[in-house]
Amino acid sequence: VGSLTGRVAVVTGAAGGIGGATAARLSREGASVVLVDLDGDAASALAARLEGEAIGVAADVSREEDVERYMDAAVDRFGRVDLHHLNAGIPGTPTALPDLGVEEFDRVIAVNMRGTFLGLRAAFRQYFLQSSAGAIVITASIASLRGSSDLLPYHASKHGVLGLMRNAAVYGGPLGVRVNAVAPGIVPTALFGSGDGPGGSADMVQRASTTPLRRAGSPEEIASVVAFLLSDDAAYMTGEAVSVDGGASIV
Ligand code: NAD
Repeated sequence: VGSLTGRVAVVTGAAGGIGGATAARLSREGASVVLVDLDGDAASALAARLEGEAIGVAADVSREEDVERYMDAAVDRFGRVDLHHLNAGIPGTPTALPDLGVEEFDRVIAVNMRGTFLGLRAAFRQYFLQSSAGAIVITASIASLRGSSDLLPYHASKHGVLGLMRNAAVYGGPLGVRVNAVAPGIVPTALFGSGDGPGGSADMVQRASTTPLRRAGSPEEIASVVAFLLSDDAAYMTGEAVSVDGGASIV
């Protein structure tokens, strides 16, 4: 605790399970935190509960002007941004490939892929302006490594964010900017429907019970790896996707 004292961090999807846990963890490590979410009220409420300095900002990460606005809000309040957790994401509606519409495809890609691209671009532009180094973590998924029968846009977008991550890491390395990804397995959050059907929370927790560690993960267990990757403890790591999935991806 305290390894991020004096740093300024932006977390997107910060009103959600994994983003909220990361914001809290970075705050405990001493960072000032900007919590960005579609649900600005929830982000602000969470910011008010953190120990350190924090603000909430309402923004849709898929919209260019919103991404510029959250960066401006961060710089206005804290003077600069050092760390980014590009984490906002949506699963989409389960649909078999023959029935998948262009609108649904574009909707998921817009948040998960374009939102990550826009966040990366905004981060790099800011690093140039402040002429300093930084660190970025993207939330990928076990879906970055696997296919599925009914969530094609989600899986494709999560493969895609690894491409964004590796390109940004190659570009950022000589500038002193590290870019990595965390790939969670099953973490019960609002991402899964509350229903009892396939893909619902109960079903996912049941599926997690067959993974090597025999359980689902917690948002805090993802947040601790994000905090590590953003810290100087990971100073020689870039372009890496770290699975945090209880071993799910090795069986
Ligand atoms: P969550 O639904 O609890 O949180 C997601 C947050 O993102 C919500 O607060 C939501 O309002 C916000 N959001 C959605 N669209 C947005 C947009 N356009 N702009 C700004 N904010 C937006 O889910 P979570 O599980 O915490 O998911 C966080 C990330 O983790 C996602 O990228 C998800 O794909 C990834 N992930 C989750 C799991 C899991 O098991 N929960 C596994 C692998 C990857």
